Amino acid sequence: MPIAKKIENQLSQSSWIRKMFEEGGRLKALHGADKVYDFTLGNPTDEPPQAFHKTLKEIANAPVPGMHRYMSNAGYPETRAAIAKVLQEDSGEDLTAEHVIMTVGAGGGLNVIFKAILDQDDEVIISAPFFVEYKFYITNHGGLPVVVQSREDFQLDLEAIEKAITDKTKAIIINSPNNPTGVVYNSDSLDKLHELVERKGAQYGRTIYVISDEPYAKIVYDDVKVPPVLGHIRNSIVVTSHSKDLALPGERIGYIAVNPQIDQVALLVDGLVFCNRILGFVNAPALMQRLVAGLQRETVDVQAYQERRDMLYNHLTSIGFEMVKPDGAFYLFPKSPLEKDIDFVEAAQKHNILLVPGSGFGQPGYFRISYCVDKEMIERSLPAFTALAKELGL
Ligand code: PLP
Repeated sequence: MPIAKKIENQLSQSSWIRKMFEEGGRLKALHGADKVYDFTLGNPTDEPPQAFHKTLKEIANAPVPGMHRYMSNAGYPETRAAIAKVLQEDSGEDLTAEHVIMTVGAGGGLNVIFKAILDQDDEVIISAPFFVEYKFYITNHGGLPVVVQSREDFQLDLEAIEKAITDKTKAIIINSPNNPTGVVYNSDSLDKLHELVERKGAQYGRTIYVISDEPYAKIVYDDVKVPPVLGHIRNSIVVTSHSKDLALPGERIGYIAVNPQIDQVALLVDGLVFCNRILGFVNAPALMQRLVAGLQRETVDVQAYQERRDMLYNHLTSIGFEMVKPDGAFYLFPKSPLEKDIDFVEAAQKHNILLVPGSGFGQPGYFRISYCVDKEMIERSLPAFTALAKELGL
């Protein structure tokens, strides 16, 4: 066998999103790109904000000697301080550069966290539906994913989480605004989660971390505010990136921020910085660190995403689809009108609409639409959705 059994096994369960992406390529070759409506990938078609291009030019025009060298494994102190300042303003917690570690995206950051905190067979609780990579990231580092179901409105089910906590639980992942549902968790559920991890941690005599994966935190609509997890949960570790809020997924720039009130926080940070090194990341990309330091209050055009959400939400609900209206991120997660979500996704393909089944997110019976796509493609797709709904008798 050329590859490990574990990887062979994971390959066979791996991404629906990729499968659909390949199907998209086939359909586009057959019918022409403008006749295929691809809603599968969370890869923004929008460009980064103007401020990004301006800063990029400034840096390129005035290169600083040494700017391409290795650095501290935690990243540049100036960038970490700029991020800490914004986090402090938003959460009220006393963060400094010491609490921030620059990472290779949120995906790299999550791997660093799990590497640093998990002993063999430690459990990590995930709420379904969830970002599919979580399971792989946890098992990469000897952990065991424990999946609990969210409530019907896709808010956290705190009772289910409590039942899932054991003496092996090391962390609970939350993701708000959520991929795939777009749901934002409110302050009240964060306060209750804080109370829960404190109580259960005391019962089992160990720290239970809440890992808040929040790459969509700045993509929210209708004046919804995402409550700062650092301000609500003492044992919180935030991990995020600029893949979505600055539309830079290919540049692989993100960070981890730890709550200064965590017990033995300096040791936790040492562990995280060491793991950034030994996972082979060494440090986050240098040029991007310089760039994002001054862009912490910048975002892509969120209003443009809101228009796309409204266009799809209004049309789909008017023709009979049911869904929770998302407050953030750039996904819709409607109920599948057919019992099997995979059958529904296949029916949609016949209308050249590419979607991802909820099964790909641990939530059969639903499907995901990613609307970080051109507005014109959404407009062109609406009659195809109407024809699909008619065919299914909605
Ligand atoms: N977490 C969630 C919920 C995501 O949706 C994604 C990417 O789609 C990531 C993490 C990984 O993002 P990054 O590009 O920063 O690694």
